[in-house]
Amino acid sequence: MPTTTPTHCPYCALQCGMGLRRTGPPVPDGAGAPVEVVERPDFPVNRGALCGKGRTAPEVLARGARLTGPLVRRRRGGPLETASWNEALDRVARGLSRVRAAHGPDAVGVFGGGGLTNEKAYALGKFARVVLGTSQIDYNGRFCMSSAAAASSYAFGLDRGLPFPLADVPRTGCVILVGANPAETMPPALRYFTELRDNGGTLIVVDPRRTRTAELADLHLAPRPGTDLALALGMLHLVVAGGRVDQAFVDARTAGWAEARAAAMAHWPELVERVTGVPLPRIRRAVELFCDAEASMVLTARGPEQQSKGTDTVGAWINLCLATGRAGRPLSGYGALTGQGNGQGGREHGQKADQLPGYRKLDDPSARAHVAGVWGVPPESLPGPGRSAYELLDALGGDVRALLLMGSNPVVSAPRAAHVEERVRSLDFLAVADVVLSETARLADVVLPVTQWAEETGTTTSLEGRVLLRRRAVDPPPGVCSDLAVLNGLAARLGWEKGFPADAEEVFEELRRASAGGPADYSGISYRRLAEAEDGSEDAGVFWPCPQQPEGASGPQGRGTPRLFLDRFATPDGRARFAAAEHRPSAEEPDAAYPLHLTTGRVLAQYQSGAQTRRVGELNAAAPGPFVELHPRLAARLGAADGDPVAVVSRRGRAVAPARVTPDIRPDTVFMPFHWPGLGRANTVTNPALDPVSRMPEFKVCAVRVERSGEP
Ligand code: SF4
Repeated sequence: MPTTTPTHCPYCALQCGMGLRRTGPPVPDGAGAPVEVVERPDFPVNRGALCGKGRTAPEVLARGARLTGPLVRRRRGGPLETASWNEALDRVARGLSRVRAAHGPDAVGVFGGGGLTNEKAYALGKFARVVLGTSQIDYNGRFCMSSAAAASSYAFGLDRGLPFPLADVPRTGCVILVGANPAETMPPALRYFTELRDNGGTLIVVDPRRTRTAELADLHLAPRPGTDLALALGMLHLVVAGGRVDQAFVDARTAGWAEARAAAMAHWPELVERVTGVPLPRIRRAVELFCDAEASMVLTARGPEQQSKGTDTVGAWINLCLATGRAGRPLSGYGALTGQGNGQGGREHGQKADQLPGYRKLDDPSARAHVAGVWGVPPESLPGPGRSAYELLDALGGDVRALLLMGSNPVVSAPRAAHVEERVRSLDFLAVADVVLSETARLADVVLPVTQWAEETGTTTSLEGRVLLRRRAVDPPPGVCSDLAVLNGLAARLGWEKGFPADAEEVFEELRRASAGGPADYSGISYRRLAEAEDGSEDAGVFWPCPQQPEGASGPQGRGTPRLFLDRFATPDGRARFAAAEHRPSAEEPDAAYPLHLTTGRVLAQYQSGAQTRRVGELNAAAPGPFVELHPRLAARLGAADGDPVAVVSRRGRAVAPARVTPDIRPDTVFMPFHWPGLGRANTVTNPALDPVSRMPEFKVCAVRVERSGEP
């Protein structure tokens, strides 16, 4: 009887439980991964349900879809050629050393990914800071969650995507989903919202498009892109005007209300109606539904977050929760639906430009001393904060002349992507570790093929802050190596003599010590505890923070902390802080030359830059390429019919794709999914204007014009 290995999906932040069962004997060369996915009804988050991406994930294990040996470019402009691991690692070590010797440690950059396991994120941050000695490290999660993280950290003193399990959603009274489309991004999560409605609760969706999620809502508000900050302020105005403020909660558990109240009162509902384009009666109705329920939640995703005012926008939605007493109480609160598979854990363990493991701040002397102690280096040897992701990419070929990149494909996924591609091409040296030959890997001097989810053990942290064990279920092909082994091999070649563990559990044990006492404290979590904790209960897994209990202490350490802030917020005085947010226009507003808004997003059958999912037949058949969604009135003005090629043009470039004519989008807005390279690369057009706090680029709104196109 073939055994089934319980594990988790490699893709999004829901981290659905799945089983992998071998379907035959190992293939002689180790490739081809004869496994099938089986349901795991014991895992409470998805109860066996998987979307097409998760169900077909084993296809990327197969030889035809992935890299199976190192590739090197032996001369500038020459082809990528096969090489031994020794040659490949020697070349990377030499390439990085040469640049470091000529231009200093900060001339070497490191770019990570939100799909890397906790162990890899931790090891990559440590590698950058102690082996390379560079401050220039950041990762693609900056493009995903940084605004929600900044706003939550300010308001609550701690950023955990959801401060409560998803299981609380159906039990609350009203949920406002802002710029989130789980029907396409994480379909198994949709049941939480349908159960909410089945239980008599209400669902409000805020999105410029009538998405599949919006179709399920009791109320859909479709603001102009970039105006959801004004919408939140207008709703707070109505809360105050209607006497719906929970003054006792505000007085007892918050700070900064006077300024937040004043900002909201300056946003008259009629003004908000004009700015957002949302009819005032619908805004009033949303306030009634939110306040009439005994408990309510606001959940955001990339819509409000990927803006040049993303931190303030999220802050304004948090203000709405705080003013109405909908935070720090059972079944109420604010949360972010994180996107990438380890979007939560990836931001906690040190691959962010300004952070150390345990979600510690890099400029905090006590944090530096603690982590430096674990790493066996003097605190003063640790570099300071570096550049954020887009700023780092923008500096490539300038003062950053070499780059080590793991698990990211910025040539497709970064804003102003043609410029980023040009910067990547201008590097003196590029090494990419990836599973597949992505568009960015194609430009590398050395490509290091690495193992993937089913072939290795490691931990991830889901959008609920639930730490999970991904288990090795199949053997990797002989020509690939784990990211941890890559870092181990490079550290040795670069003269690091203290040892750089390549075993995931050994890395996790070090991560536990490094995170101890920090905001994201994993010190009480172990692989053994994680394995035991996936026992079919609602609290399966372990929720951080989970501090190590002192020797001899009694009481259940068990599952960590599924629900945060019920007694106090994590700020120094225990009070949540209102943001003093004011509406302001997007960095680029429509004008005569570029009269429309562009907004971007995902489709059901593809994931992020598509590097993996574009290699899966079933997914490609379902979503074979990009498209431009436009309203029938706009299509009629252009003379474009469904399927006609149209060009979306911004100040940064143009992207061409077939028109998809639909009444489900505002007439002043067009939409493109961002999963594809080439002519239809949506990010050629997007705007890298950055949020001043989170450094999040403004993916979600820029000014464009749309033209009929001669291109096919
Ligand atoms: Fe995987 Fe996310 Fe789909 Fe679940 S919803 S199967 S985690 S991609």
